[in-house]
Parts: sequence; C-alpha cells; structure tokens
Amino acid sequence: MPRLVMKFGGTSVADLSRIEAAAARVRREVEAGHDVIVVVSAMAGKTNELVGWVRDTSVLYDAREYDAVVASGEVVTAGLMALRLQQMGVDARSWQGWQVPVRTTSAHGAARIEEIGTEAIAARFAQGVRVAVVAGFQGISAENRVTTLGRGGSDTTAVAFAAAFDAERCDIYTDVDGIYTTDPRIEDRARKLDRIAYEEMLELASLGAKVLQTRSVELAMRYKVRLQVLSSFEDKPGTLVCDEEEIMESKVVSGVAFQRDEAKMTLISVADRPGIAAAIFGPLADAGVNVDMIVQNISEDGRTDMTFSCPVAEVPRARAALETAMAEGHINYHGLDADTDVAKVSIVGIGMRSHAGVAQKMFRALADEGVNIKVITTSEIKTSVLIDRKYLELAVQALHDAFELDKAG
Ligand code: ASP
Ligand code: MG
Repeated sequence: MPRLVMKFGGTSVADLSRIEAAAARVRREVEAGHDVIVVVSAMAGKTNELVGWVRDTSVLYDAREYDAVVASGEVVTAGLMALRLQQMGVDARSWQGWQVPVRTTSAHGAARIEEIGTEAIAARFAQGVRVAVVAGFQGISAENRVTTLGRGGSDTTAVAFAAAFDAERCDIYTDVDGIYTTDPRIEDRARKLDRIAYEEMLELASLGAKVLQTRSVELAMRYKVRLQVLSSFEDKPGTLVCDEEEIMESKVVSGVAFQRDEAKMTLISVADRPGIAAAIFGPLADAGVNVDMIVQNISEDGRTDMTFSCPVAEVPRARAALETAMAEGHINYHGLDADTDVAKVSIVGIGMRSHAGVAQKMFRALADEGVNIKVITTSEIKTSVLIDRKYLELAVQALHDAFELDKAG
C-alpha cells in the first residue's frame, strides 16, 4: 500500500480534542488506502516545561538526563494518538525512538539521525496494522542512551521516516497554512505559495524556521522527499516544498526574507597581509559567532577595514574574541566599531540564476524609498542587504511590491 507520513506539531496535539481532530485526519488517509506513519510532537508548551524543570534542577545539567526528560513529551502524545485511533476503529500502534530503532549520533540535545530500522514497523504493516505512531524528536545512541534531535526535531524525524519508508509525501501539520512570500505581519498582501523549491526554502529560513526545522529541509532535499506544510485547523492544501523540476510557475523572486536583529561590526585599519581573514574569523568561529556577510575594503598603506555581520546577541562574544586575538598579537587593528541597529533583507528565488538585473531592481526599489544600503552580498539564488533597522518594514514592503509577489506566477 502507498505510504504517507503525517507529522503533527505541538499545537496540533495540544489537548485531547486536538489529538482527536488529528486522528480523524489520519483515519481519512487510511480510508483512502494509505499505510500511515504518524509522527507526533509533544503537546504545545510541554517541551518548554520539561526543559525548565531540568534547568531548575541542575544548572550544569547532564545532557544525557536532559534528553531522558525532554524526550518524554513525545512519548505521551504517541501513546494517546494510538489509543485515539484504536477508539476510532483504526489498527494503530505506537513506537518510541528506541523501539523503532531510530539510531542517532551521541550528541545529546542535538543528535543527528544515522539510520532508521524499518523492519519492525514494516512487519506490522505487513500484518495489517495501518498506522504506526512514532514519537518524534528522539532516538537512541550507540551507547544505548535516549537522544533528542534539537528543538523542532520532530520535523526531521518525519522527513527521515518518509525517506526510509519511501513515502509518497510527508505532510507537516502545523498552526500556519503554508509558506508565504514574506511575513504577513509586515506585508498584508503576502501570498501563500503553492510550491517552493528546497533550496529556496533553505534560504527563506528566516520565514520558515519556525515552521520547519532547517535540518528537515536539508534532509528532504537530499532524499527528494516531497514535503507539504499545511494547517491542522483548516481543510485546504498548504505549500509543497519540492524539487525545482516540479515547479512550473516561474517567478524570478519567490520571497522576501529578513533578519531583524543583525549587527554590523567593522575592524578599522587592520594589517592587510596573507592570513589576516583566517586570523580574524578563526577566533570568531571558535567563539561560536555566526558570521554572515563579510566585506573587505580596499587597502591603503598595507592596511584595510574588515566588516562583517552577525546576530546582535553575539556582539559581546565577537568583541571579546577579537580583543583577545588582539591582546595575544594575532591581529592588529585601530578600532572596533559595532552598529547594532541594522537588519538584513534578502530576496530569494531560483529564477535569479537565469535572469540578469534582479539585484539592480532590488537596489532601485530601495533607493526609491530613500533606504540606504550598508552592505550587499549575493549568491546564486539570493541577494541580501544590510539596512538601518528602522527601515525594515518599509524595505520588505517595497521589495514585495517591486517583484509583484502578491500576484501568482
Ligand atoms: N517537542 C520538541 C520541541 O518543541 C520537538 C518538536 O516539536 O519538533 O522542540
Ligand atoms: Mg516545529
């Protein structure tokens, strides 16, 4: 029988009546002839509560016990979902990560799935069980300890099962009805996309991050799992995240993404010599600073300015790392400037690969609104600019308008 993976996020299993509504959707797919793997999250708010309990018990907690505690939220919903399905007359059984087994690395709190044993569940399907309910977000390490996959990890569980069981599609039920051209809270003409390519979805992480764990999109792209994001509160199709070959409508730009809390840091007058970039960005990487854009200025008298962007919250860490590198004599600069009032705005689209003049159109639209651009970077399918944060909304609206994203195809 064709297989389908249906994943329900926390708000979709928030209480017993929501679990019942989700189970009704599962039954519909079973009646339509699918064998279904249901992947569940913990009830809304549960994982936060569990994490809080761990932290309140132990500040420097043992990560193995953190996983033992936080994995329990999904265990509860998996059992309840199986019970509800049985009540509805559907032959269902639940599986915890270790029972499947979902084999992962030993990186507790951020484990990666290495292998999914399909035999046990496949055998039950062969015996006539129609639904396997799997606790998301968890697995088991080589040391036989329970692991978790990082916040939002049930999405990755779902995609991994879809790949392992060769499912027709992986439906991610959530509290939004799809992926939009930009954040509808900023631009009320934002439009829900019918389809989006994996690569675009990865670049639109700032819009989609709360909807899909980034790792799940990477996995879906690697194994070509068709992923649908849809609402469990309404009955309508969502957004299909798929291979670009499946996308007929060819807009050059698909969406406008943004990061509100960015900072721009500049090392003023650093010695321009081979190895200087490595000497600067090595310590930043070691300090866990997520550097995004990098610009090196023209050199004068063997010295240059080096500018980079990172999240505002990481500025103190970046500053400390650079000051240490300076004190230890690895780098030498005349000043360190931090502008913490910037935001990043990006246009994203696979069509940018084959169209010229897209970035120019972006710059024109911003100029027409009097928005000054501080830093620009481009990749094959994305152009990003840093601007003053106070112009973020204006810039997003102007770009949405310039690329006519409110209009379909
Ligand atoms: N319950 C876990 C979390 O909140 C995993 C998930 O829901 O995807 O991060
Ligand atoms: Mg989620």
